Amino acid sequence: MQNTPPVISIVIPCYNEEAVLADTVKELTAVLDSMASKGIISTGSYILCCDDGSKDATWQVIETLHKSDKKVKGISLAHNRGHQYALLAGLMTSRGRCDAAISIDADLQDDPSAIIEMVKKFNDGKEIVYGVRRKRDSDTWFKRTSARKFYNLQKKMGVDSIYDHADYRLMSARALDLLADYGESNLFLRGIIPQIGLCSDVVYYDRRARMAGESKYPLSKMLSFSIDGITSFSARPMRMVFFIGLALMVADILVALYVTISIFCSDHLEAGWASLILSVWFLGSLILMSIGIIGEYIGKIFIEVKQRPRYAVRDILFD
Ligand code: UDP
Ligand code: MG
Repeated sequence: MQNTPPVISIVIPCYNEEAVLADTVKELTAVLDSMASKGIISTGSYILCCDDGSKDATWQVIETLHKSDKKVKGISLAHNRGHQYALLAGLMTSRGRCDAAISIDADLQDDPSAIIEMVKKFNDGKEIVYGVRRKRDSDTWFKRTSARKFYNLQKKMGVDSIYDHADYRLMSARALDLLADYGESNLFLRGIIPQIGLCSDVVYYDRRARMAGESKYPLSKMLSFSIDGITSFSARPMRMVFFIGLALMVADILVALYVTISIFCSDHLEAGWASLILSVWFLGSLILMSIGIIGEYIGKIFIEVKQRPRYAVRDILFD
């Protein structure tokens, strides 16, 4: 445990969040102030809003908040890169400027009072503290079920992730330094951070409904996020394709054997047109699927080898 209270940075990725941001910042400021007044955290703790190239007045809201309270800092990305990149930009901006960073969504679906417990665990020596949802009543049935299925699928595919944990977590300065060494472009922070290791713990909280505005994660984004979550960490789908191919080849040999034996042993042979066409279609679809999975990986390699910057910062308010 350190002697001086730690400087905490609260990182909020924001995309078109003008409707909620002011309230969110107010609520989080209250949490920080109450902890600072008790001497749990430093009075130099701050909130960093990362505008992910919003099309609405999010950045103007951040500028106004910053003007009236210097505890509210901001960065804006040059264009919309997505939640994970906005979060990374915020974490990397906080790196070297805090003792621990806590990431939380702008809609405050994740209960901010868990921050107090996270900081307590950090002060007790934990370097990464994961916020885990106790229940998700506020989410739609579809979101709940699909999230659960996805976690299970990830586990089966050998991806190490924390069950029912989104991106609500505390990371120490050392964890942020280690995260900076992960240079990959296909970002799936929930998979990367457990790989960092270090001493970690979890904090349970209740997930609430979005305060205002709409979810920025429509089904299409959720799907591509899920595919990234598996293919960025596990080569198992490719291996599965190989084994399916192998199994089919064995089946093929057995059928060929059966046909050969039937030719010699019986004079009655099926016309076989339907089964032939069916198997052609079946194999065709399997081949296309396999190419798709392999393409997914080759696409990832293609993006990684270019080593393009993962985000570009347009403005920064940090004084
Ligand atoms: N977000 C972002 N860039 C995007 C989409 C979302 O920075 O392209 C932010 C958004 O402002 C919010 C967080 O990511 O703070 C989570 O988004 P949202 O609440 O819409 O997702 P959900 O909770 O519905 O999964
Ligand atoms: Mg949300």
